[in-house]
Amino acid sequence: MNTQFFLTIGGQSLAGERGTFKVLNPATEEVVAECPFASPEQVDQAVKTAEEAFNSWQYSSDETRVAALNAIADKFEVHAEELAEFITLEQGKPLDLARFEVGGAIAWTRYTASLEIPVEVVEDSDVRRAELHRKPLGVVGSITPWNWPLMIAIWHVMPALRTGNTVVVKPSSMTPFNTLRMVELMNEVLPAGVINVVTGEGGIGSRMVKHEGIRKIVFTGSTPTGQTIMRSAADNLKRLTLELGGNDAGIVLPDADIDTLAPAIFQTAFINMGQTCAALKRLYVHDSQYDALVEKLAEQARAQKVGSGMTPGVNFGPVQNRDQFDLVAELVEDARQNGASVVTGGERVGDKGYFYAPTIVADITDGTRLVDEEQFGPALPVVRYSDVEDAIRRANDNPNGLGGSVWGSDIEQAKAVASRLECGTVWINNHSEVLPHCPFGGAKMSGIGTEFGTDGLLEYTQVQLLNISKG
Ligand code: NAD
Repeated sequence: MNTQFFLTIGGQSLAGERGTFKVLNPATEEVVAECPFASPEQVDQAVKTAEEAFNSWQYSSDETRVAALNAIADKFEVHAEELAEFITLEQGKPLDLARFEVGGAIAWTRYTASLEIPVEVVEDSDVRRAELHRKPLGVVGSITPWNWPLMIAIWHVMPALRTGNTVVVKPSSMTPFNTLRMVELMNEVLPAGVINVVTGEGGIGSRMVKHEGIRKIVFTGSTPTGQTIMRSAADNLKRLTLELGGNDAGIVLPDADIDTLAPAIFQTAFINMGQTCAALKRLYVHDSQYDALVEKLAEQARAQKVGSGMTPGVNFGPVQNRDQFDLVAELVEDARQNGASVVTGGERVGDKGYFYAPTIVADITDGTRLVDEEQFGPALPVVRYSDVEDAIRRANDNPNGLGGSVWGSDIEQAKAVASRLECGTVWINNHSEVLPHCPFGGAKMSGIGTEFGTDGLLEYTQVQLLNISKG
């Protein structure tokens, strides 16, 4: 396997001017490889080359861009296994889940290619014809997190390119390799400078956010970083799409068929070891089924096979990094100290790697950190309620508003509850599912803007009203 990685700027493979930094495998705590560390000047160079490429890419035909995206998807298909292995080695998820991520990246690329950029005729009268056109913005800066590193980069980059923008992408320093490889493969198809990648912490992201040459930042990551970005972006009125943290509530109604639903509740809470923005993170269960559902969820948790994502048969990998592992352990410990029952899990697995046992915490309520804060890891608090109105109030009593769910047999009743949840997506008898054609975005402190579908595509454009006088 290739262990030498480069920045791609203006179509050229470059070493980082600040040397390299180490990227750890979370299953072994050993070094996967050295990652190039870009200098601030290389960020400037990447923006400059993207600005130059924008001069022609913005006028490329729709057919050219559609063909490019489809050709890129073909390349990803050829290199799917290699990309999946990078993801498992640096991110930690089981190889089958990494393959699912690569499959999603390909599907999103093809779907974005298939979208149309609409021209709306606002008026066509004897006096005038008014048409609403969509123009690209310029250079888009994409900043991504470490949980679904390839998929999220694709979510940012493909609609930007499809609408005629050029891109500088910066992956998380925890998981940079799959993005470096993604950009290399894309450069086999795209003209030089249309997509560039820089890596490193210590001001690389903030230099992008402050850069006069970047017209829009699309950011997925934590809410505090999103807030910092929003403040810095004010200086040149950058457009922003911010996909931030969540603390999604699920409400299990008294009529829910918990025998059937328990596996789905577990899966949607623990997808990617709970490190998913719109995973189910707080579960409210009616008194009448509380004990039974807690036990069913604990059974699911005990059945997981925890281990290295590269080991066949393993379906539950490590937490991605030491800080996140410590946070999850701290929140569970705090719950325990405050009288909650750790029904299963609540401890490290093994003595190497960031493995944390899938954990179900019961006899816990709002006001405890594990319920109120985003755990972003493999520990689910299960909260008892007796009145549905009260459950709705508690679900909404949180600054986040990414997703939410209602679980029940009477769909009309579930819909009535769902419509009252303050969040960008609400599922019934499901959670966490995102789809290329379904617009997705956060309410309240979970973000600004939308991704996916035509709504998401148009976030990378500026409207231009063309007014033709028939005077
Ligand atoms: P993070 O905010 O720490 O980092 C995200 C990215 O921002 C990284 O690339 C990082 O290098 C960069 N960054 C850090 N400081 C910066 C600054 N001042 N200016 C510019 N860039 C900066 O987030 P994380 O820990 O990588 O990801 C976990 C978080 O992401 C969780 O809160 C999760 O809920 C959220 N998330 C949200 C979504 C969504 O769609 N809403 C999806 C995935 C993850």
